[in-house]
Amino acid sequence: MATATPIRGGYNRPAEIAVTEDQLKKFKAAARAMWREKDLEPIMVFLAEYFNVPIPNAEVGEQYSNCYDPTTKTIYIDKHSVVSLLHEYWHHARHVLGLENTEEGARTFSVTLYAVTFPNLYRQMVEAGRLYWY
Ligand SMILES: [Zn+2]
Repeated sequence: MATATPIRGGYNRPAEIAVTEDQLKKFKAAARAMWREKDLEPIMVFLAEYFNVPIPNAEVGEQYSNCYDPTTKTIYIDKHSVVSLLHEYWHHARHVLGLENTEEGARTFSVTLYAVTFPNLYRQMVEAGRLYWY
């Protein structure tokens, strides 16, 4: 169980996530493939295994607003943002598993996994005001 450390006032929601060191290593490599090669497959496969759900469709393009369409099981994101993909994937997983599907849950999962995996990048994004709790 890894824990994200609160950064500063306004960002201090406690966050915990059940993820092993091996999973973190795989996730880190998958996130880098998404950033560097615009390759979504490693992260899509990682998350399918993590949640034990089928891989959803995914479209990336600046014409999209970040969202998940449950009728077509498609994730739309406007750019290759790992946090956005994690957020929408959480919605997909909860939909497929028939579990409660909230914005707070999606934010908690996406931001916490990102913070635990890339603490320095997370801190930079928070300090730049690009990532925050609502
Ligand atoms: Zn959402």
